[in-house]
Amino acid sequence: MATPSGPTPGPSASPRRRTVLPDARISPRFAGLATFGRYPRLDDVAPENRPLDWAIYGVPYDTGVTFRPGARFGPRAIRDASQYLKRYHIEHAVDVCDTLSMADCGDAPVLPFDPRKTLDAVAEFATDLADESTRLLAIGGDHSIAYANLRATFTRLAEHGREPKGGLAVVHFDSHLDTVDAVWGERWSHASPFRRAIEEGLINPKRMLTIGIKGPLNGAADLDYARQAGVTVVLREDLRRAGAPGIAVIREFLGKLGDTPTYITFDIDVVDPAFAPGTGTPSVGGLSSIEALELLRMCRGINIAGGDVVEVLPDRDVSQITAFLAAHIAFEILALDAARQ
Ligand code: MN
Ligand code: MN
Repeated sequence: MATPSGPTPGPSASPRRRTVLPDARISPRFAGLATFGRYPRLDDVAPENRPLDWAIYGVPYDTGVTFRPGARFGPRAIRDASQYLKRYHIEHAVDVCDTLSMADCGDAPVLPFDPRKTLDAVAEFATDLADESTRLLAIGGDHSIAYANLRATFTRLAEHGREPKGGLAVVHFDSHLDTVDAVWGERWSHASPFRRAIEEGLINPKRMLTIGIKGPLNGAADLDYARQAGVTVVLREDLRRAGAPGIAVIREFLGKLGDTPTYITFDIDVVDPAFAPGTGTPSVGGLSSIEALELLRMCRGINIAGGDVVEVLPDRDVSQITAFLAAHIAFEILALDAARQ
């Protein structure tokens, strides 16, 4: 008796979740409502693509800034710039949208006259978005919102008994440490998110890597808290001078992470103002765009638990270059996770 000669069903019959995009060759990238990366709105995600792998949301908030305001307009600018994001990551050889189910979940609620209430509201909003397997990617907004997304990320893991002992690991890109105790009497500004997160045990300072710190500082003591807490600090200069000794430090740090849930937080001011002028506390002598991408790509293989891209200030941007870079940084974070799957 003849047997059907078609392909036999493989053992991996479990349906793969994915992100359904409009075809740019049919529906132009400059048409339609702007969601991040043209990914579906949360309500439009088909049942077979739930639960999400990544919930992407904006935080239009900048009450936490200590210098130029305007990052509250960051999420809109980044969504607009992200229309031109394509799906295939050539260096990791992965189709991000065929590998991950992602959605734009809109913006978190904010209360611009009240930093503490805003951070609570953002953390609550984000926690509600996340299923057990869903990671949270926050688009800022000033860097104070990292605290809220870290808290939501930690809470999600803890609800399922999967929180790392001692707190999350963190890879932090920034020109600044953001571990100041208080500015103008305020403890919840963008100068303090990691100080608060360390104090609350959300992150483990001994598993925190900060890349890109540079001067001038207010004083030598600015580095004390982070160093005494055990944060690994890679100065901008350590990546630039002969032999780039900071690269070995980064490799060693990443190599020790194993499966530890690790949060990636990216302050766009780590990039030189020549490449990213649209930001509130610009710092001269920063990374180039490609250096930033290469450093992120070094993180391939780590277990990414969540992330954020912050401090884009569109009113100071030129030709959308900062927003465009921020959209690509967010995509790099997603691609790292896709490459690991
Ligand atoms: Mn920062
Ligand atoms: Mn900064």
